[in-house]
Amino acid sequence: MSATLIDGKARAAALRETVAVAVARLKDDAGLEPGLAVVLVGEDPASKVYVSNKIRLTRECGMRSIEHILPEATSQADLIALVEKLNADPGIDGILVQMPLPAHIDSDAVVLAIDPAKDVDGLHPVNAGRIVLGKPGLVPCTPQGCVILAKEALAEKNGGDLSGLNALVVGRSILVGKPVALLLQNENCTVTMAHSRTRDLETVCRQADILVAAVGRAQMIKGDWIKPGACVIDVGINRIAAPERGEGKTRLVGDVDFETAVEVAGQITPVPGGVGPMTIACLLANTVRAACRRRGLAEPDLG
Ligand code: NAP
Repeated sequence: MSATLIDGKARAAALRETVAVAVARLKDDAGLEPGLAVVLVGEDPASKVYVSNKIRLTRECGMRSIEHILPEATSQADLIALVEKLNADPGIDGILVQMPLPAHIDSDAVVLAIDPAKDVDGLHPVNAGRIVLGKPGLVPCTPQGCVILAKEALAEKNGGDLSGLNALVVGRSILVGKPVALLLQNENCTVTMAHSRTRDLETVCRQADILVAAVGRAQMIKGDWIKPGACVIDVGINRIAAPERGEGKTRLVGDVDFETAVEVAGQITPVPGGVGPMTIACLLANTVRAACRRRGLAEPDLG
């Protein structure tokens, strides 16, 4: 058996298109042009790439992108002062402070300073609390993308209804594992969370109808750990040596051993091209949601 590939790239493009249509409608009907402020501190090369992609895709969707590129030596007080200025700016609907921040800045303090209504990354404790309560809030982007992909992958089988399925989330980080587990619970899955202290992970994995891997360990979850026909969502992004591509070459792989897992799973996200592209698309969708909610406008259906 060979699993169906879950095409996150195509799903992300479709979501961005839906966002662009919603933005055009907001402009026509309400004269509203949502604005997303992105704050980058320092010179981290991966962060620079993420930020430039976010800026480009924000503009492609017809929204305003406002960038604040700050030097590495920026103080925590200055960064928080900027966040507070953006909170108070009525033209800004979403604020994204690119992580990781330089070591001298307490990222929790910065996240706490963001107005929860503009927290399009969904990291503020108020938004985390809303997920726990099962109330509408701004849902973190990568976990949101995971659930969209799982529901669509299972649409044919279950009509997108995940009720009663056994879901396993491997990884319990605040950024990915915990919110994914809560979102799946809100979808009525029976959720198990695994982590570095989990005993006999292989057996735990074999019970899962939906397996979300957010570990950060290259190709850790093998095909024979997977229940035949399970839906596998691989969040991991790991760079490994790829001597077959030439000396010194590397390639990206997930936390799941794709080659063996694809033979067993029912549906599986590839890496790259699975969960990754969904993150920015969900960020753009959150910006539109935030823009509407802040103004008491009806929220467009963004799927
Ligand atoms: P993280 O903060 O390092 O958390 C890793 C989690 O995995 C921890 O909960 C840890 O358990 C658990 N873990 C580590 N080793 C394990 C093992 N041997 N068995 C079982 N669990 C183990 O990582 P993260 O931020 O959640 O990111 C996870 C992966 O997703 C990374 O590859 C990252 O690059 C990727 N990622 C992708 C996107 C995207 O696609 N856009 C976004 C974010 C992250 P303990 O809690 O017990 O330490």
